[in-house]
Amino acid sequence: MNFIVLDLEWNQGPLNARDERMPVEIIEIGAVKLDENFKKKGTYQKLIKPKFYKKINPITSEITKIKTQDLEHEKDFNYVMKEFLRWCKDDYILCTFGTQDISELIKNMQLNGMDIPFTYPVKYIDIQNIVNIFYGDKAEHLSLEYLTNFFNIKQKGVYHRALGDALYTAEILKLFDTNVLTRYISVDSTIGPKSEDDQVYVDTGLAFEMISCEYKTREEMYESNLVSEVFCPVCKKKVDKVIDWFSDNAKYDSVYCCKEHGYIEGLINIKKRYVTAKKEVYYGIKKIILIDKEKYETIFKRKELIIKKRQEKRYIKGQENNQECNLENNIENNLENNIDDN
Ligand SMILES: [Zn+2]
Repeated sequence: MNFIVLDLEWNQGPLNARDERMPVEIIEIGAVKLDENFKKKGTYQKLIKPKFYKKINPITSEITKIKTQDLEHEKDFNYVMKEFLRWCKDDYILCTFGTQDISELIKNMQLNGMDIPFTYPVKYIDIQNIVNIFYGDKAEHLSLEYLTNFFNIKQKGVYHRALGDALYTAEILKLFDTNVLTRYISVDSTIGPKSEDDQVYVDTGLAFEMISCEYKTREEMYESNLVSEVFCPVCKKKVDKVIDWFSDNAKYDSVYCCKEHGYIEGLINIKKRYVTAKKEVYYGIKKIILIDKEKYETIFKRKELIIKKRQEKRYIKGQENNQECNLENNIENNLENNIDDN
């Protein structure tokens, strides 16, 4: 099996004409192909002529140095993507830095009317996630540039261009053992499962992940048994709640405890997908992870801080005007009720 380390550059759609199904349009694909022993077998790089957002955003130009006129004579997305897939050949796994490249790739293929050639659910290696696992949470916010310096990787190309970033990402990937890379596989969740039977479960023995099926409304999702099932990822036994579910933007967090295996974090990330430009569906990604006491204390402090901030916000705005807070409270009550029922 080959590792295809992929990086994309994209142009953000203008606010007044952005299609929510595809907020960014891919304008460059760069990739490095490595064999199982990390031997380089080739590289791929192509610019793409945009079809939806034809004018390159000044910020994109500043970061990538790609200008509108640079793309005028390039091939379109469908042409380049088909060529890229032929270059990938058959036996490969895509590897990226972060979750966004795979997600934007799928959205771009959908809106360009292409069939998705990957089997559902799309599994890939997220190098940023693996760095997080081995070097701590803070790596989540660190740039590729920071990490290449951190790992002492010498200059391979320009940053913020598809091939340059793919080459750097490949160098970080090579620092890990193949077994590690394939053990911590990520599952793309750009599209949620259609029915409960198709729900995705990933069980590594220390962590458990699930992608729920798509629901028509948020409420319908909260009412499902998605969140009620928190168990120990190691022994799969029932666990005691230590920190109640609380919301942090689109995420919900909680802590449970297994008598034998210790603290367990329950996380739900709520996803919204546009089926058409105006119609949306909701699904949730639930993660159950074994954590240490230090992490438990961090979550405890974070919840206290969020509650304090929310109280301050309420005090300023006045409870009756703050519908947003009420909605959040309802959702939290819903989650708690669901859990208490079980
Ligand atoms: Zn246990």
